[in-house]
Amino acid sequence: MTAPLFKNLCIIGPGLIGSSVLRRAMLDRSIATHLTVTDINPDVRTRVRTLAIADTVADTTAEAVANADCVMLCVPVGAIAGVARTVLPHLKPGAILTDVGSVKMSVLAELDAFLPPDIPYIPTHPMAGTEYSGPDAGFPSLFETRWCLVTPRPNTPDATLSKITTLWEKLGARVRVMDATHHDKVCAIVSHLPHLLAFTICNTADTLADETRSEVLDFAASGFRDFTRIAASDPTMWRDIFLHNREALLDMLDRFTNDAQTMATAIRNGDDATIVTTIARGREIRRSLIENQQA
Ligand code: NAP
Repeated sequence: MTAPLFKNLCIIGPGLIGSSVLRRAMLDRSIATHLTVTDINPDVRTRVRTLAIADTVADTTAEAVANADCVMLCVPVGAIAGVARTVLPHLKPGAILTDVGSVKMSVLAELDAFLPPDIPYIPTHPMAGTEYSGPDAGFPSLFETRWCLVTPRPNTPDATLSKITTLWEKLGARVRVMDATHHDKVCAIVSHLPHLLAFTICNTADTLADETRSEVLDFAASGFRDFTRIAASDPTMWRDIFLHNREALLDMLDRFTNDAQTMATAIRNGDDATIVTTIARGREIRRSLIENQQA
């Protein structure tokens, strides 16, 4: 039998993503011999003990990471750099530090000055999620066939990249390596802008006159409902993502606003060719997603 990938994998922040990693790793012990977890919130720690999704639930970060050979930060983007700085003095030399945050460049900028040379830090981002959060929201198949974007730094050792790639493959994901700036641009269009639109459209519907607002709820199935699912996502998480990926998100929003104006002009002018071409491109994208098993 081959040795497990890690002797001790430590998860900090066992919410939707962290608890899904733990649940999968509890089922596949080739990932880690020992699973340790901690959270800033004592209620979350108590809940994780009850759920029995880790071998050890530590009360402090120092205790949690002391014996870890890999520490995965699964906290909101705005907390990653601060938690990493708390973790660093307690890590074993050579232990891998990784995170799952939805934005990369701002965290790297905050952390760069503090990373010791003997601690390999490798950011990752699983492109999987739901609108739910907390330790009860996770499930072991969350990452199945989803992409996990890995953004190694120029000095990330090959062995670290290889271990983290294997980890995500064991968790069920497909891995794509890219640089952090590119990651933030791609995520601005595929994830951050759609969330911004969903939150905004729900607010727009909510500020309509009372009579129309109740009809929005009655007839939501005709398109609005899909926006409400996305708009149900956690406010802290999305505040952090918007503020930390500000430039890339605003750039995509500008492009979208221009394209929406083009569509508005086509509708105003009865330009049916532009309208049909725009809709047909949307259909084509949906078809490609289904073929790619990402629908
Ligand atoms: P979540 O369900 O809200 O879980 C986050 C956990 O981290 C919570 O238990 C939270 O405790 C804890 N936490 C917050 N600050 C902390 C700190 N300073 N120290 C220790 N624990 C702390 O969030 P999630 O959806 O799993 O997201 C976690 C990360 O994954 C985020 O960076 C997010 O950008 C990224 N991500 C999310 C998705 C998604 O769809 N949800 C997808 C891909 C990546 P409290 O409950 O007390 O706040």
